Amino acid sequence: MPSVHIKTYGCQMNERDSEQVAKMLGERGYRMTGVEADADVILLNTCSVRDMAEQKAIGKMGMLRKLRKERPHLVLGYLGCMAQARGESLTKTSTHVDLVVGTQKFHRVADYVDDLLRRRIEARMDDERLPIVDVDEEEGSQSTIREQELTAGQCTAFVSIMQGCNMHCAFCIVPQTRGEERARIIEDIVAEVRGLADRGVREVTLLGQIVNLYGRHEFPKTGGLSPFVQLLEAVCGVEGIERVRFTSPHPIGFRADLIAAFGRLPKLVEHVHLPLQSGSNRILKIMRRGYTSAAFVDLVGKLRAERPGIAITTDIIVGFPGETDEDYAATRSLVDQVGFDNAFVFRYSPRQNTPAATMGEQVSEDVKEWRNKDLLEVVNRYVARHLDALVGQNVGILCEGASRNNSERLSGRTRTNKIVVFAGAPRLIGRLFDVRIARASSSTLYGEVV
Ligand code: SF4
Repeated sequence: MPSVHIKTYGCQMNERDSEQVAKMLGERGYRMTGVEADADVILLNTCSVRDMAEQKAIGKMGMLRKLRKERPHLVLGYLGCMAQARGESLTKTSTHVDLVVGTQKFHRVADYVDDLLRRRIEARMDDERLPIVDVDEEEGSQSTIREQELTAGQCTAFVSIMQGCNMHCAFCIVPQTRGEERARIIEDIVAEVRGLADRGVREVTLLGQIVNLYGRHEFPKTGGLSPFVQLLEAVCGVEGIERVRFTSPHPIGFRADLIAAFGRLPKLVEHVHLPLQSGSNRILKIMRRGYTSAAFVDLVGKLRAERPGIAITTDIIVGFPGETDEDYAATRSLVDQVGFDNAFVFRYSPRQNTPAATMGEQVSEDVKEWRNKDLLEVVNRYVARHLDALVGQNVGILCEGASRNNSERLSGRTRTNKIVVFAGAPRLIGRLFDVRIARASSSTLYGEVV
């Protein structure tokens, strides 16, 4: 059977979508390969969040032109966010591309690949090189990302619970690439989680572009609980699942019922990734984020009061249009005030057809670079402080497998999402136990099994 190589760019949602595509292709008899040169079909699952991610995928497809010349039967395709945003134009700029499939059509990829390979075999010269482009919307497509192949010993898994976002933050292309918010029903999600638990998964991460506002348009509140908290309760109730995470939420979606959930659902881990974006109220308003810096700090305080020791991580954009030195100073001071466990700092990157892209007062690349470097120094001080505080302590981890940098060692994560590397036998994979932390590097804890 033909073999397929999928290369994924961007976020965990994309990783999850690629897994689903791989599963569907596998069911048709395709063989997945990690080696590009062996593949009969190469698919790039793309990201549009930053210009650099798009350029990487376009550059990669450019390099594949040579492979295609050597092997004329090779099928090449773009999937996902950039495919959705750019559509047919991708087949004009890259004339060797056969397939462009948007974010609501992942479940059609196997059909299209079948079709393209059949055309090659039948050598129907009239349509052999006609590309297939499908970036239409499709009702119910959010419920098609629901199965995955697990690797041996896999004990963590991502579960896609919704697609799309209705928030329209001024810098963000996601509402264009992923469409309106659409939620899967709770019963389907719980059935997927149950199936994962039966196959050895101990930790699930619920995924959505605005995950904590899950189902707000489709499902009612029950007993004062939002659909998302109802879902959390249901997933925490699945036997065999020991840890539940979610990403990425929006600060405005943390209402009283969700904050209280951290106090009463023990399987919900002590970690929230809470995107701040800016510490300046003026910039937050232009970004259309819907909260102030004081409301953000207040929310962090409530989460810490409800679950002492909870880790808070964040995303921050520096160099948003119009960001002055004072605005940046407000962000820097908020980072100091909160003392995040970690933060992803991004230089603002204009995205086509977003309001921020055409705003005046674009910040120069030099200033963005300086602020990025400066903020990372502040962030890293707090990262080190949080890691150092665990040295000498016993921490509970879920052992996920071999360490990425040293296959002789094992690696796991704490409930606060910190990586721990230690020596141990492979039989520990998939188990929860304590490790005594001996030392910390800039990003990793090292210790010994207790
Ligand atoms: S809430 Fe998140 S995904 Fe939605 S528009 Fe804002 S940044 Fe983009």
